Amino acid sequence: MNTKIYHKEDLRNDQVKTHIKSVLHQGGLVVFPTETVYGIGANALNPQAVLSIYQAKGRPSDNPLIVHIAHKKDLYQYIDDIPRVATKLMDAYWPGPLTLIFDKSSKIPFEVTGGLNTVAIRMPNHPIALDVIGLSELPICAPSANLSGRPSSTLFEHVYEDFNGKVDIIIDGGKAKIGLESTVLDVTTPIPTLLRPGAITKEMIEKTLELGIIDGTDKKVSDIPKSPGMKYKHYAPKGQMTLVDGKIENVITYINQIVKSLDISKTAVIGADEVTSNIDLKYKVSLGHLSNLDEIASNLFIALRQMDDLGIEHIFIHSLPESDLGQAIMNRLSKASGYNTIHV
Ligand code: AMP
Ligand code: MG
Repeated sequence: MNTKIYHKEDLRNDQVKTHIKSVLHQGGLVVFPTETVYGIGANALNPQAVLSIYQAKGRPSDNPLIVHIAHKKDLYQYIDDIPRVATKLMDAYWPGPLTLIFDKSSKIPFEVTGGLNTVAIRMPNHPIALDVIGLSELPICAPSANLSGRPSSTLFEHVYEDFNGKVDIIIDGGKAKIGLESTVLDVTTPIPTLLRPGAITKEMIEKTLELGIIDGTDKKVSDIPKSPGMKYKHYAPKGQMTLVDGKIENVITYINQIVKSLDISKTAVIGADEVTSNIDLKYKVSLGHLSNLDEIASNLFIALRQMDDLGIEHIFIHSLPESDLGQAIMNRLSKASGYNTIHV
């Protein structure tokens, strides 16, 4: 397949808009940027189009997709019962990186939900994403644009690497601002349940609702998953990744010691400046300062992909405090390391 590449400016052109719309209406695939990560989009009302997303990604078909809409009011077309907590959260955080799980109506095909009776919906906060969804006049399911098991794509180059030749259109929107996938919150349970931490944090949701929520995020792969996505290995670079947990001085001492016994041409450390600048290794990727979790989040998946490009076999990364955005970052780090944590 010949993949057409568009840039932000191209979306002003009527011919380009018509092309994007007709591809989506004909069941094709369009990769576009969002504020979280890039998404691989298809018409959520067309089961064949939805199945082709699973195929292109190599995603297990029981791992459901998030439906993206361009206007809050569109939700009322696809969902019959919208709980009051959802309305409050939509008012506070849509458009934005918060996905809500609702009871599915008959309009949404089971292919989207992996057979579940619930459906995930969000309204992204990105001009290109909103343009694409809006001009299509369709609900668009758009999981992260990465081959299944790889880190989500936060750069055009990553999307191109994974999907050039496999999708109809890729739109280059530069670097994704947030760099972590949306928060997923189930509002069908009597008390809302957090299924995936993201940039809309547990603390923010609780403050808005004036209510404590249930933290259903996974700690171990063996736990019974409340969200199908929880049971799959995610974000994993090819090398063995170790999450080092402890005081910063202990983390630095431990990594400097252990790397002495490893092949340094195939060993790397990823972490905050305060850690990487004190490690004696050739391959070090600094994600930003410890005090700037936004920056650390936005650089994380880029660093994970770099490991494969460099052929790294041993990767060390360190833990962060698990509050606010730290919870979402730690969730991705635990998964990427296959829950291989060492306490020092
Ligand atoms: P992605 O779009 O690749 O970021 O993944 C979407 C995430 O949302 C996965 O972890 C899914 O398991 C989760 N998800 C989507 N729909 C549902 C649903 N109906 N119930 C629970 N989790 C869902
Ligand atoms: Mg994903």
